[in-house]
Amino acid sequence: MANGRGKTMENKRIYMDYSATTPVKKEVLDEMLPYFNEGFGNASSFYSYGHEAKEALELARTRVAALINAEPNEIYFTAGGSESDNWAIKGVAFDLQRKGKGNHIITSKIEHHAILHTCEYLEKNFGFEVTYLDVDEEGKVSPEALENAIKDNTILISIMFANNEIGTVEPIKELVEVAKKHKILFHTDAVQAAGNIPVDVKELGVDMVSMSSHKIYGPKGVGALFIRRGLRFDNLVHGGAQEKRRRAGTENIPAIVGYGKAAELAKANMDNHIKELTRLRNKLIEGVKERIPYTRINGSLEDRLPGNANFAFKFIEGEGILLLLNHAGISGSSGSACTSGSLDPSHVLLAIGLPHEIAHGSLRLTVGDFTTDEDIDYILEVLPKVIERLRSMSPLYEEALQAEGK
Ligand SMILES: *Cc1c(COP(=O)(O)O)cnc(C)c1O
Repeated sequence: MANGRGKTMENKRIYMDYSATTPVKKEVLDEMLPYFNEGFGNASSFYSYGHEAKEALELARTRVAALINAEPNEIYFTAGGSESDNWAIKGVAFDLQRKGKGNHIITSKIEHHAILHTCEYLEKNFGFEVTYLDVDEEGKVSPEALENAIKDNTILISIMFANNEIGTVEPIKELVEVAKKHKILFHTDAVQAAGNIPVDVKELGVDMVSMSSHKIYGPKGVGALFIRRGLRFDNLVHGGAQEKRRRAGTENIPAIVGYGKAAELAKANMDNHIKELTRLRNKLIEGVKERIPYTRINGSLEDRLPGNANFAFKFIEGEGILLLLNHAGISGSSGSACTSGSLDPSHVLLAIGLPHEIAHGSLRLTVGDFTTDEDIDYILEVLPKVIERLRSMSPLYEEALQAEGK
């Protein structure tokens, strides 16, 4: 185990963290490869190498646009979901603050750190005021709460489409309606959603949408921001004239091509992807509920990302679970402690009302396109033993059993 990837019980390695990142699909890689050498041209160049790159760039733009029913000229490529989030929030905030429209931003307590830390930065250093909306026990933001939080100086609302930890899908359409009624711009971080479940910007009427490639079987370090036609605000990356002068930097053509292909595949396979992932995830959740007592399923059961399962196991710590699972070849994640580099439990689990000690015992397992029934069977065999072993060392568990007279 010295190198961290030594032999496991049965030499198995089961990836159960598709919400953290996904492998690049073969079809995606195959389309990318020529653009590293033969097709290496700079898309801004006049000669044919440049034209080839430019064509590939525009095809990718068309494919990513199609994924969310946008127009190609509403798609701006970025270096990923975090950059898209930063751009939307800072770009709009600085623009409207400078124009004297206000300085109040509304977001939620369960956003990704790319949103939360950006808002905190604006709050701390640039005189913005931010409202972080509470969520209910399923992790949902209520349209009424949003309505009540709106003030005369509100300039921007940013609520995520689907949560990366507990998988809850937000009532975005209703939330956007509230924003529109008050003529306030609405941004949504759809990094977990776009490519996994239907996202339709025309139907929703959103103004900005953040997306990322590596959560949908494309390469890392590339994403996009949808900006509704006609909407203008500050650039985040200043420099050359790329992306219609709105996002500078020589385009990462191989990555963008890969993202385009991943988006095309995601759109084509969406129905089957949802059906299959939901089936596997339900099998996992049901199996765990049957086999492991004192288990809580976090997040909404109805409005949920197809691949997401999030458990809280009472009396034990997430890190212990991850460690033992990893030893058995299973890669999952926990919202707490060492995985996230902090000792605080996940802000999302606290926001849905879990007490600290229960939030600490959380486990997120996310299935994806390469997950099999055998993988789930193996997890259902291993996980109960792991939990039982950890609980057998927990004095709290002892007490609970005694209290029940067992
Ligand atoms: C992964 C993720 C991000 C960050 O995207 P990157 O492409 O990794 O920068 C932002 N928001 C959510 C909800 C995510 O899951």
